[in-house]
Amino acid sequence: MNIFDKSVKIGNVSWNIEKFSHADTNEQQGGCTNVFYHTIYMREEGGMEDIDTLIHETLHACDAMMTIKLKEDQVYKLANALTFVLRDNPWLFTYVKQKIKEEYVR
Ligand SMILES: [Zn+2]
Repeated sequence: MNIFDKSVKIGNVSWNIEKFSHADTNEQQGGCTNVFYHTIYMREEGGMEDIDTLIHETLHACDAMMTIKLKEDQVYKLANALTFVLRDNPWLFTYVKQKIKEEYVR
């Protein structure tokens, strides 16, 4: 699946997911979020790293929408924890998809 042709809808706003490379920044981060342009930038690292980055940047977007004012360390730890939950409980995807289908697809 090409994630870069997707968007993440958070509240009433669709956030584009765009690729950025190591050449775009000197930092070693896997992604970043531009809250003004509603864009999540990600590197393609591969594997669980990409999931963690997507969750991390999505949490930043949620934080901006809800004005929670999470600290970077809190976003980092929440993203790691959620990545592990998703990795260790694949049945969760099926359950969520089933519940969404029951609720919204008729
Ligand atoms: Zn961050």
